[in-house]
Amino acid sequence: MRGIVYLVATPIGNLADISKRALETLAAVDLVACEDTRHTGKLLNHFNIKKKLTSYHEHNEQARTEELTEFLKQGKSIAVVSDAGTPAISDPALRIVQRAHEIGAKVVAIPGAVAFVSALIVSGLPTDSFFFGGFLPSKKNERRRRLAEVSNVPATLLFYETPHRLSKSLIDCLEVLGNRKAAVARELTKLHEETILGTLEELTEKFSSGDIRGEIVLVIDRIEIANQKSQIANEKSLPERVAELENEGIDRKLALKRAAKEFGLPRSEAYRILQAGK
Ligand code: SAM
Repeated sequence: MRGIVYLVATPIGNLADISKRALETLAAVDLVACEDTRHTGKLLNHFNIKKKLTSYHEHNEQARTEELTEFLKQGKSIAVVSDAGTPAISDPALRIVQRAHEIGAKVVAIPGAVAFVSALIVSGLPTDSFFFGGFLPSKKNERRRRLAEVSNVPATLLFYETPHRLSKSLIDCLEVLGNRKAAVARELTKLHEETILGTLEELTEKFSSGDIRGEIVLVIDRIEIANQKSQIANEKSLPERVAELENEGIDRKLALKRAAKEFGLPRSEAYRILQAGK
């Protein structure tokens, strides 16, 4: 009989957000695999849980997964936790989940806090359809390329951000996505929790000094419905449409002008998307 992997969500700030089932599971398993044994040790201490801990983070994930898999083969149970929130969401866990499935061990979710879900629901932006993109790339060119890729996704966009990158990312979001509505959700569930709403232009201006601290989720409105329709009707991205028009013999300037009109975008914005998509 194989063991069980429990993916246990922990709070993203407020310790009262831990679930009863999470505590019962952490108390019952044979081993807790966590990103930082000191951090999780403190959490378990707070709830008077004494448990064997082993580190499981991005630097030892590969080797440690094999050890954990052996453990499962012996019929033992493991709780996987990350420093905050839900394991496997921009955090380690995916590998052990895949290995557990391969050896026929059961994988069970013990759900709880996820930062991007809290950010989405407080942002006031549509929740019917959303796209979570994890962390945006740290390099400017890659970040702009990534933004261009998701520009036409007909869903509210969510990204994790670090305080020192927020200002630069906001500038790129504004230039690649256009001036959409957005929200910066900061320190969710904590003492200094706040959600700052505005257009990307306003938020870029507000955070231009780079003076922001804490943990951040960036929430951005979807492309306008008019643009979405044009995208769906054409089933093409703006750079593809420009290339198509050029292939028809239209010069680049005119192709861009026409594509911008079809996508309902100002020409300058269409030009930026075209450049970012290169
Ligand atoms: N596994 C976590 C989850 O379920 O949300 C995410 C871990 S990821 C390494 C850490 C990032 O999540 C932070 O840089 C920040 O973008 C976001 N985050 C975590 N806690 C947060 C909080 N209390 N408020 C806002 N964002 C938070």
